[in-house]
Amino acid sequence: MHKAPRGTFDIFLEKQNLRDDIINKFFEIVKTYGFGPITTPIFEEESLFVRSVGDSSDIVNKEIYQFVDKKGRSLALRPELTASIMRCYIENKMYAQQPIKRFAYYGPAFRYERPQAGRYRQFYQFGVESIGIKNPVYDAQMIIMAVELLRNIDINDFSVVINCLGSDEDRAKYNQALKTYFQQYENQLCADCVKRLEKNPLRILDCKIDGELDIVKNAPKLKDYLSEESLNYYQEIKNVLDNLEIEYIEDDTLVRGLDYYNDIVFEIKSNSDNAKNTLIGGGRYDNLCQDLGGPSVPSIGFALGVERIIEELLNNNEELLNAYTNNIDVYFHCENNDQRNLALPIMELMRDGMIVDCNYEDKSYKSSLKWAIKNNACLLISFIDDEHLLVRNLIQKEEFEISYEQMISDLIKKIEEEYETN
Ligand code: ATP
Ligand code: MG
Repeated sequence: MHKAPRGTFDIFLEKQNLRDDIINKFFEIVKTYGFGPITTPIFEEESLFVRSVGDSSDIVNKEIYQFVDKKGRSLALRPELTASIMRCYIENKMYAQQPIKRFAYYGPAFRYERPQAGRYRQFYQFGVESIGIKNPVYDAQMIIMAVELLRNIDINDFSVVINCLGSDEDRAKYNQALKTYFQQYENQLCADCVKRLEKNPLRILDCKIDGELDIVKNAPKLKDYLSEESLNYYQEIKNVLDNLEIEYIEDDTLVRGLDYYNDIVFEIKSNSDNAKNTLIGGGRYDNLCQDLGGPSVPSIGFALGVERIIEELLNNNEELLNAYTNNIDVYFHCENNDQRNLALPIMELMRDGMIVDCNYEDKSYKSSLKWAIKNNACLLISFIDDEHLLVRNLIQKEEFEISYEQMISDLIKKIEEEYETN
């Protein structure tokens, strides 16, 4: 027997309905902020991710699914979508005419991680990228938009965590300070962090193993290395959030797992389960366009883990799925194929807006009734004879007889009326 590969899952019926509903809502909401849809390939040149996400990040170092194709090209399943979208922006020279572009996406991403609740090897992200705008008021608005997405699907118990990573120069100074500091404790660091010490000491703060150590907690603080300009920018973002009474927590150790961020970074974490469950993560990435061979274009974006959102929703409300079953509106009970052939044209006409089904196996009227009730059908229709039907309203508990011809002409009339009013 075959199983879905470790860390992957199937999605179907109720859960897929719920998921589609949420994603549609998200696209609708971000559309009101000027975001339009984008779809990019699921695999890309591996070097795209090495250059963007960074070769000192776990995502590229340990988690990437790479492969060589039949022509010897090094490709990788995308571990995230920002790099692809920036690649698309540059490849299509979108910066040339109207550089401000706002994209919203939904699709799978792949990371070779240790599977557990909320952590899979194929997972789905919904995200937004806003390319071409740099303004602290706008950054605050991006955070507000992320909050709005959650509130709109009735997730309210979360914390917004923010931090400022400063400019490249700020971080270079800070990295130097971290290097000097951690060199004294090199023997206490995990093997990965010893490597990070050379390449990108900032990453040590994000380590899932060493992150809890006292030496990490007592390390030099990023905020002491930020320039006045960076601090002012950050303060303006906080002012907007304060004015709009959006609560947030400042966390100096929030550095995010991707190398391309600068200035504002943020996460939205669920409070309900454990605070480690990050639902949304994002930040500003002003250098990515240039790093990938384009001009310098400032950008900001965030992504959310769809599985974590669904798990959060269902943890609090298991019954939610009941509203997402594939119900039927009308059920036809047919005794044989002659009746089914007569029912067919009526069913087609009814499908102008209704969900219609009939029994394709011969069964009793009673079991058709049971099936109709179980699937929340409103009407159960059966044949009295070849020319007459019995229509039973299962909700209002009424029934009436109608001739076959009348039924057809009523349905056609109804459709025509609808057509005229539309
Ligand atoms: P974490 O610290 O939880 O590993 P991350 O910083 O690696 O998250 P991002 O790269 O910022 O995550 O991705 C954005 C969002 O995608 C996360 O906040 C999370 O909701 C979701 N996500 C990331 N990795 C996974 C995964 N392996 N399985 C499911 N969802 C994920
Ligand atoms: Mg991760």
